Amino acid sequence: MNQIAEHLLQVKERIVQAASRAGRSRDHIQLLAVSKTKPLEAVCEAYAAGQRRFGESYAQEAATKIDTLREQGACADIEWHFIGPLQSNKSKLVAERFDWVQSVDREKLIERLNNQRPSGLAPLNVCLQINISGESSKSGTSEQEIFRLAELVSRCERLRLRGLMAIPEHTSDEAVLAAQMVRMQTLFTELAQQYPGVDTLSMGMTEDLELAIGHGSTMVRIGTAIFGARDYS
Ligand SMILES: *Cc1c(COP(=O)(O)O)cnc(C)c1O
Repeated sequence: MNQIAEHLLQVKERIVQAASRAGRSRDHIQLLAVSKTKPLEAVCEAYAAGQRRFGESYAQEAATKIDTLREQGACADIEWHFIGPLQSNKSKLVAERFDWVQSVDREKLIERLNNQRPSGLAPLNVCLQINISGESSKSGTSEQEIFRLAELVSRCERLRLRGLMAIPEHTSDEAVLAAQMVRMQTLFTELAQQYPGVDTLSMGMTEDLELAIGHGSTMVRIGTAIFGARDYS
């Protein structure tokens, strides 16, 4: 077995264990493999090991990867999730290629994605990103704005509101982290009550996967534990 396949098994085992400790079904937690900065060969290795959901953070890098695979006719059933900060001038690259955008955080981006989503494709699945730690360096909207943006997305024909995404603070203080995750869980529950299509709480990375699953995450986004450390970001 190659290393990526082995790492995938280890991550899945962590998910099983965390779900079991939280008294949740493992089937309610999806694994997104975050392949940003990693070569196409790494994506293909994970694909060969059965992985189908992939996350990318840089629009141009991702577009090149996706287009190359499509030209090769390879890995055709990958579900692509855009998870990085999205500049408005890159929104078309994403609207034309991805299945999901998890980093939607402002009205202008909602309008652009809705206008740019090709009619021949299924509606684009959208998660609203919340800046749950309130750090100025982080993208994401405020808690107060979530319900206004959700209403806008729900009215867009070419978009489908699926849930919330957050990157909690990078801290070793588990109480701080847990408080942010509790807040996310509450907002997610409120949103799901208002919008029946909402089913996704995207939360949890390599370091905090267990804590996120303990706080209701339905999708963990894992890069390092699958593909190894990144050279940048
Ligand atoms: C890079 C990235 C991840 C993966 O982080 P790891 O710590 O490598 O697992 C998850 N979510 C987002 C939004 C990212 O940018």
